Amino acid sequence: MLVMVLHEAGQALRLEKRPDPVPAAGEIRLKVEACAVCRTDLHVVDGDIPVPRLPIVPGHEIVGIVDMVGDGVHGVLIGDRLGVPWLGDTCGRCRFCLGQQENLCDAAVFTGHGKDGGFATHVVANAAYCVQLDQHADPVKLAPLMCAGLIGWRTLRAAGSLAKELGIYGFGAAAHLVAQVACQEGSRVYAFTKPRDTMAQELAWSLGASWVGGSDEQPPVALDAALIFAPVGELVPLALQAVRKGGRVVCGGIHMSDIPAFPYKYLWGERHLSSVANLTRADAVDFFKAIRHINLKVDTTVYPLACANDALSNLRAGRIQGAAVLVP
Ligand SMILES: [Zn+2]
Ligand SMILES: [Zn+2]
Repeated sequence: MLVMVLHEAGQALRLEKRPDPVPAAGEIRLKVEACAVCRTDLHVVDGDIPVPRLPIVPGHEIVGIVDMVGDGVHGVLIGDRLGVPWLGDTCGRCRFCLGQQENLCDAAVFTGHGKDGGFATHVVANAAYCVQLDQHADPVKLAPLMCAGLIGWRTLRAAGSLAKELGIYGFGAAAHLVAQVACQEGSRVYAFTKPRDTMAQELAWSLGASWVGGSDEQPPVALDAALIFAPVGELVPLALQAVRKGGRVVCGGIHMSDIPAFPYKYLWGERHLSSVANLTRADAVDFFKAIRHINLKVDTTVYPLACANDALSNLRAGRIQGAAVLVP
């Protein structure tokens, strides 16, 4: 198989040939059809978040066809289309796993972080953490759902069900999906992009946003909640100022620059500030059920697997509209 490998944080990925992996008990092997590029992959490659092992093959928004099944796997057949998300394994025994918070498990293993991911032609995964996907859908359009969609969904749910006036800061892969779900649920979406980022602003308007502006602007109404997907700590005090009393600000990313000090009055009035960490398998079930009747527009830019470094550079520079997807 071919893989794009990270040997050292801060370096470019290297294209390498490896023997095809063989699934162990409980695992399946996928022939990768598509793997989207998440900002978390960029944080791994840039060394913003530590990885437990190197070298590592990044990529955790994987869509592929099962071509080998390990012992003890039930309910998965060769030829099935599965998705492999960020949450690759958990201990199943800790207080978080037993309390329906497996996303917080201390022993969790993450795809493309603690085990090799989908920047490859083949990948093995724990079958119990994979998601059955539509056999007839376009794999390129499914791939961004596996993290941008799922984390976006978890972030939206963390904002509460009463978020009728919903702000979204950072209009990339996650935001462009979650905005459509929120509009479908009857919320009005206020999209904040980098000032003068006309590409992201046009995308936001086209997906049904009620208002679009720069992150340095205040929205025309007080927001019930704000989701922050951009990895920019300066947005936290801005978002707190944009939400009403009792409103919520939810940070959806795994890494953010430092949050600057701000006056307590921004938090006062029972405003809530929280984060979303990883995802649970239940999130995937709920998300795919919720979008079954939504005609989601998934905006993608396709790169050949060997051009993964170009996709990462363009994501770093903010030059990607929607989601970048690698195709082997
Ligand atoms: Zn656990
Ligand atoms: Zn991700």
